[in-house]
Amino acid sequence: MTTAAAGSPRTYQVRTYGCQMNVHDSERISGLLEQAGYVRAPQADDTPDVVVFNTCAVRENADNRLYGNLGHLRPVKDKHPDMQIAVGGCLAQKDRGEIVRKAPWVDVVFGTHNIGSLPVLLERARHNAAAEVEILESLDVFPSTLPTRRESTYAGWVSISVGCNNTCTFCIVPSLRGKEKDRRPGDILSEVRALVDEGVLEVTLLGQNVNSYGVEFGDRYAFGKLLRACGDIDGLERVRFTSPHPKDFTDDVIAAMAETPNVCHSLHMPLQSGSDDVLRAMRRSYRSERYLGIIEKVRAAMPDAAITTDIIVGFPGETEADFQRTLDVVREARFSSAFTFQYSKRPGTPAATMDGQLPKQVVQERYERLIATVEEITWAENKRLVGETVEVLVAVGEGRKDERTGRMSGRARDGRLVHFATEAPGGESLAGQIRPGDIVHTTITYAAPHHLNADGAPVAHRRTRAGDAAEAGRSPRTPGVLLGLPTLGAPPVAPAPAAGCATH
Ligand code: SF4
Repeated sequence: MTTAAAGSPRTYQVRTYGCQMNVHDSERISGLLEQAGYVRAPQADDTPDVVVFNTCAVRENADNRLYGNLGHLRPVKDKHPDMQIAVGGCLAQKDRGEIVRKAPWVDVVFGTHNIGSLPVLLERARHNAAAEVEILESLDVFPSTLPTRRESTYAGWVSISVGCNNTCTFCIVPSLRGKEKDRRPGDILSEVRALVDEGVLEVTLLGQNVNSYGVEFGDRYAFGKLLRACGDIDGLERVRFTSPHPKDFTDDVIAAMAETPNVCHSLHMPLQSGSDDVLRAMRRSYRSERYLGIIEKVRAAMPDAAITTDIIVGFPGETEADFQRTLDVVREARFSSAFTFQYSKRPGTPAATMDGQLPKQVVQERYERLIATVEEITWAENKRLVGETVEVLVAVGEGRKDERTGRMSGRARDGRLVHFATEAPGGESLAGQIRPGDIVHTTITYAAPHHLNADGAPVAHRRTRAGDAAEAGRSPRTPGVLLGLPTLGAPPVAPAPAAGCATH
């Protein structure tokens, strides 16, 4: 008995909160459910047969938000008793059985280590007419071995590791996602090749700390080697990665970035604070000098590199002098963009109970000063590109104003957002011919702090297989390859996972 019409497949909807790791996990949840015979519910459908919440535990009020959302679904479920509600992700890993105690209309609770069990848990809950709660303490199967329904035709996430061995005091990842588990290089490269075979042009290698990749199988240069190996994959045009960690960053990675043509000259390296005292309190074991030293080497090897970062303002105990050090590093590093966060307590983290929590207005005021400094620099850095011709990978829906302005949008190789005009020199619009996933070369005419505009005619347009796939409405799917966890010292072949905290 289902809410779907008799004989038609059950429908599902996944609601995702949090970081890229969760977004990628949601692609796996969709892939798994579709393999089990479910079909995605239309967006406007407010009574899908299964609603999955893929939750995030980063914000202080994340649980209020979840219980609020579950509360909204209660009357819907009362009317449609066959609807099933499942809660997964970091908050589920943290709150476990508490979720069905607080919201007894929830059918399934699953954690970050057992995404693969979701279809079985839904089935069991339906059969037994009782809630199923299954949380594992550690990973039993690498999530990348699961079938995945990819959201983008031209860009794909590929996890290289899950979990984190660091103990930053503001972060919940180690307690919810566990110790770092590295995936075998051959598995990663197989997944990359499978994506490229489907037409994908760009991959982003994902890990909480990509620079410690290899720690499990005893090769501290494994990440640089992986980047170089990606350089040998025909048809792969862009390789990115996130996130590196200044503590583990080695020079061979800079050399691999500079010497591998398809690796993009963009680096997102979390700073978090420019003050060594705050870094110490955060338990981040590099100092600002080391951070700036890495940037200097990156710029020497790749003068066109765009460097972006994450910064937390108002960490417990942060003084005005500490904050000034952050501004100093921002000025010296000349970031092309920065994700700035006001410190907020994350329940379950050591920093949440530290002395010296700052009043909201102090944090707010510093935050505003930080944003002003960051924007001044990112704007100046962006202006340097006016007059340059850049390669843009055309995206879907990156520009809210595009429809009104007749522009399309995409990312340059260095990661910058570019809005470009689509009129050919004769005035004819190319908008119908340029598809998401195609490559356009265009000349920058205007710079803003957060984007670039190119208002002349595109210099060149290349139709790609990713563009063909977008036009045909096909999205890449990577089948599950069941290999289990990598063993120590062993390499060889097949696909990968994610972890999940917005800032590293
Ligand atoms: S912030 Fe990043 S490096 Fe630090 S513990 Fe969390 S996941 Fe690990």
